[in-house]
Amino acid sequence: MSTLQGKTALVTGSTSGIGLGIAIALAQHGARLMINGFGDVEGALAQVRAHDPEAVFNGADMSKPEQIAAMVQACEAQLGSCDILVNNAGIQHVASVEEFPVERWDAIIAINLSSAFHSMRAALPGMRARNWGRIVNMASVHGLVASVNKSAYIATKHGLVGLTKATALETATTGITVNAICPGWVLTPLVQKQVDARAAAEGVDKEEAKRRLLAEKQPSLQFTTPEELAALTLFLCGPAARNVRGQAWAVDGGWTAQ
Ligand code: NAD
Repeated sequence: MSTLQGKTALVTGSTSGIGLGIAIALAQHGARLMINGFGDVEGALAQVRAHDPEAVFNGADMSKPEQIAAMVQACEAQLGSCDILVNNAGIQHVASVEEFPVERWDAIIAINLSSAFHSMRAALPGMRARNWGRIVNMASVHGLVASVNKSAYIATKHGLVGLTKATALETATTGITVNAICPGWVLTPLVQKQVDARAAAEGVDKEEAKRRLLAEKQPSLQFTTPEELAALTLFLCGPAARNVRGQAWAVDGGWTAQ
């Protein structure tokens, strides 16, 4: 259980959902953590500190390039390095292109896509100096296929898959790997909002709204869990994934097999 002993990890958007699940799993496996995000910071930190008592928090806003660069520097200063970088922070907004608020478009591009450029740009020099690094970008099935009314999210997740491939090629002969994970539906606060909106719009209870959400896209009819995505992240961070580079790995109950 100590495969990441001696490694440090920065997980963005790790106060909730998938990012929190990944931060806990990395800490469980011996990494020293910096977490980030909004909301219940104390609750998230307590869960990570159960495994890494010295885990630290940085409140950088992932829409702000200078705060992102400062967070990576703080990780290197406080933990000694930034060996593992998980770009996970993300937001969603559901509306047609004509009705999409410009301010929401800009925020989604900044938080879901540009943030990964800024954090990788800041973390790569240290990774190159140590000739070891693992970058995991949390994309989505919406990095591979589209759905209606999610234009900004889909543009960013397709962009993140492209950014992952480009960075993986730039680091291909080094000990740094860069990959993306593409989950289907995961029942986190981000998706709960969509379940609630569907229940209200269709006049059904939340269980029925969940069933309809899954039935529409995800053939397994089951949500992927943060723990399952954390297990894949652990694999990508381990020695067996040394030559897995530039991949966009779907964990989607068959969504993109259709
Ligand atoms: P979530 O809402 O539970 O968590 C999002 C995290 O990002 C939170 O910690 C939040 O505080 C943080 N965050 C949001 N804006 C931020 C900002 N400006 N600066 C710093 N942190 C910020 O959502 P989740 O479902 O766990 O999503 C995590 C990632 O997984 C996202 O990139 C999302 O697009 C992706 N994803 C989720 C699903 C799903 O079904 N839930 C599917 C595919 C991909």
